[in-house]
Amino acid sequence: MSLYDLEIADWQKLLSGQPPFRSRQIWKAIHEHALRPDQLTSLPKSLRAILASSAETASAFTLVRLTSDDRQLTEKALFQLNDRRVIETVLMHYHDRSTVCISSQAGCAMNCSFCATGQQGFFRHLTVGEIVEQVIWAIDRTRITRGEKRLSNIVFMGMGEPLANTRNVFRALERINTDIGIGARHITVSTVGIVPGIKLFTDLGPQFNLAVSLHAANNDKRTSLVPINAKYPIETLMETLQEYVQKTRRRISFEWAMMDGVNDTEQDAKELTSLCVPLEAHVNLIPLNPTLGWPSKGSGWSRVESFADTLAGAGIAVSIRDNRGTNIDAACGQLAGLVADKNLGERYSENISAKMEISALLD
Ligand code: SF4
Repeated sequence: MSLYDLEIADWQKLLSGQPPFRSRQIWKAIHEHALRPDQLTSLPKSLRAILASSAETASAFTLVRLTSDDRQLTEKALFQLNDRRVIETVLMHYHDRSTVCISSQAGCAMNCSFCATGQQGFFRHLTVGEIVEQVIWAIDRTRITRGEKRLSNIVFMGMGEPLANTRNVFRALERINTDIGIGARHITVSTVGIVPGIKLFTDLGPQFNLAVSLHAANNDKRTSLVPINAKYPIETLMETLQEYVQKTRRRISFEWAMMDGVNDTEQDAKELTSLCVPLEAHVNLIPLNPTLGWPSKGSGWSRVESFADTLAGAGIAVSIRDNRGTNIDAACGQLAGLVADKNLGERYSENISAKMEISALLD
C-alpha cells in the first residue's frame, strides 16, 4: 500500500478524527496539484507530520537513478518499488508538449523477441498507486525543469503489457483522467494485441487512444517477433479492432518497429497496407533500437522513408517517430531496469494471482 493506492474511502477512514472536508482536500491536492503530503501547507502542521511519516501514505517507490539524453529533453527515471523490483519511466519534452511513457508491470510476460523488457521476464503487475505515481512524478519533474509547461500526454508504452493488467490499469486511467485532469484523448494505451483486454478497453467509455504494436502483418513473421500472436492471430485481432473502431469511432494506430531486413521490405509494406485500409488505421514507424538480446539492427533512414512512401501512396496516414533516448536505453523496446535485477533472483512472480491471470492470457 502506498499514497496513491489509497482510494477516497480509505482517506476518509484514515482521517476519521478530522473535519469531513479533509479527505477531499488532500485528494485534490495530491492529484490535481501533484503535491506530496509534506507540501500540503494548507493542513495543520501536526497532520502534515503524521502523513509524512506514515507507511500508508508513503511513496510507492524511490528514485534510484535519473539519466538524460537529447540535450536533457529526454529523461529516464529508474525507480525501486517497495518490494525492490525496479521499473523505468521516460519523460520526453517537445517544443509544444511533454509526454511521459509509463510502465504497467515489473517485467513482461509477452516475450517479444526484440524487447529488453521481454528478454527479462515477468515479475508482477504494478498497483494502481505505482502507475499513478509515475504520472505524478512526471508532472512534478516537468514543473521543475520546464516551469509553466504542464505534462500533457501519457503513453502506456513502458515496461509491461497494460492490457494484461486491466484491473489496475483501468482504475489508473480513470484517476489520471478524472482526478489528475489529463484529457482521455491525451492518453494512449499500447498493446501487443491481447484480444480480451481490447474488448474490455472498447467498453470502457472515455475516449482514450489505442495503439497496437503490430511489427509484422502476416502470422508467421508476427509470431516470431511477438509470440502472443500464436494465441491471438492477426485475423482475430483485426476483427476485434474492427469492433473497437465501430463502437468507439476512434482511429487506432499501429506501431511498427522497423528492423533491417526483417519487416521493412516492399512486401511487408503491402501486407501492412491491406490491414490498415479497412480500419483507416494510422501507422507510426520507428527504427528499432538496439538491445543486448536481439541481433537485428534498426532499418536505415532511406528504407524507413521508402516504406513510409509506399504506405502514404496507398492513402495510409503514416508518421516516422523520433528515436528518443537511445543513448540512455530509454527508447522503445530498451527499458530493462538494469540495476537491481541481478540481485532479485527469481524470474517469475511470486504473486500467484497475477501469474494465473497471465497464464490464462498466454495458454
Ligand atoms: S514490447 Fe511490450 S509487450 Fe512486448 S515484451 Fe516488450 S514490454 Fe512486453
